[in-house]
Amino acid sequence: MRNRSTTKIPMPEQEPARRVRNFEEVAFGYTQAQAKREAERCLGCKHKPCVSGCPVGVDIPSFIEALAEGDTAAAARTIRRANALPAVCGRVCPQETQCEQHCVRGRNGEPVAIGRLERYTADWAMEYGEDDPPAVSNGIRAAVVGSGPAGLTCAGELARFGYGVTVFEAFHKPGGVLVYGIPEFRLPKAIVAREIAQLEAGGVVVETNCVVGRTVTVDELLAEGYRAVFVGSGAGLPTFMGIPGENLNGVYSANEFLTRVNLMRAFERGAQTPIQPMRRVAVVGGGNVAMDAARCALRLGAESVSIVYRRSEREMPARAEEIHHAREEGVAFHLLVNPVSLNGDEQGWVREMVCVEMELSEPDESGRRRPVPKEGSRVTLPVDAVIMAIGSSPNPLIRQTTPDLASNRRGCLVADEATGRTAKRGVYAGGDAVTGAATVILAMGAGQAAARAMHEDITNGVV
Ligand code: FAD
Ligand code: SF4
Repeated sequence: MRNRSTTKIPMPEQEPARRVRNFEEVAFGYTQAQAKREAERCLGCKHKPCVSGCPVGVDIPSFIEALAEGDTAAAARTIRRANALPAVCGRVCPQETQCEQHCVRGRNGEPVAIGRLERYTADWAMEYGEDDPPAVSNGIRAAVVGSGPAGLTCAGELARFGYGVTVFEAFHKPGGVLVYGIPEFRLPKAIVAREIAQLEAGGVVVETNCVVGRTVTVDELLAEGYRAVFVGSGAGLPTFMGIPGENLNGVYSANEFLTRVNLMRAFERGAQTPIQPMRRVAVVGGGNVAMDAARCALRLGAESVSIVYRRSEREMPARAEEIHHAREEGVAFHLLVNPVSLNGDEQGWVREMVCVEMELSEPDESGRRRPVPKEGSRVTLPVDAVIMAIGSSPNPLIRQTTPDLASNRRGCLVADEATGRTAKRGVYAGGDAVTGAATVILAMGAGQAAARAMHEDITNGVV
């Protein structure tokens, strides 16, 4: 029976006053009845416009139809054919600018809640579904550098073609930003571990604590008999503003702060690498990373947390949902201000952030209106911690240790967008290492496309 409602079934979630004191997941996910009712909103469009917005090409109408018929196992099989990390994507994908943006139901109301339905299906499959068995081996080995969404997707796809795939990861845990960046309350680490375990059950081998470029180079991997190498090493090098006082104690990059909190679990009692207690925190930036850092700081017990952003809320790159959640939890927004210096006390701890007010002029090359300082303005914020969340770029190690691998002026590896092929024979690249900081699903799309190109090139004897 079709559900004609023009709005999505709401997602149950923790109350703001409660969740701000814990790191448990904010959203609870649909029940079976809610998922079925939401699935009944789908029109089953023959031309599948929603699929054109999905970088890994999930057959969205088919899985939703299976859900509407109550066959969650069939829905899960359909999703897994195209997406190796559905429980991750169902939680963190920006569906509003991907599949849901193309949904016909969105023309006259809210689109079908494709992301929530994907999450429901993937969570069900984790509990009741079966792992895919390993494919028949073709006797050829391939290597993947980095275990973020790009590397994991590439590895899963190659394993399905029958390759013996090893993923080399610098950290002690696989998952990339999914484990060291995105906080537990948005993406529980047990979910990431379970999806990685499914890939391992399918034959993917993960070798942690291996820094490619130090422990072993890309050329050494090729010489060791890996026929092709995919580089998905991400964009984990933080950017700083270059203002006076940035080296004071209490000033963090978002990368360091979130790694301590998420990967090193600083929020747990007895953590071996705790975070210095903070009372008044300013987070500089307006993206998802800034929202995550601000919401973590609140949960760690800060009295006040402010986002400091040089444009207005309209230009903020963070997902609307993240801004809404941050605001609900009590994060303050200082908009149209930009820090110019940080002042410290005699012990070298940051105590003040000095900012100028900004106004917006003509759009710049990013299409957003350019912020310019208001002559003579000054705003001073009292702080004892500052978190810089103004972007990141690829770490130079791989490009410095791999001859013939080209990079652009932003430090990103140069690779063909549709295939991941680089100028170096046998080496492919994708995800944030190529695009700069982007999204999980774009990284996954790049990993999938590169795996297909690697298979094609190996099959045709090109590498
Ligand atoms: P990464 O996830 O960065 O993985 C790269 C991996 O390579 C890492 O594990 C790294 O340790 C490893 N590595 C690096 N160098 C080497 C080396 N030399 N040898 C071996 N291993 C190496 N996107 C969304 O879609 N939705 C969100 O809500 C969202 N929130 C985010 C929140 C935060 C805090 C951050 C930082 C990012 C967020 N993103 C989000 C962006 C998204 O996580 C990234 O675009 C995505 O993870 C990129 O995937 P990747 O595989 O290219 O790189
Ligand atoms: Fe269903 Fe929307 Fe896709 Fe149409 S566009 S098949 S309504 S999800």
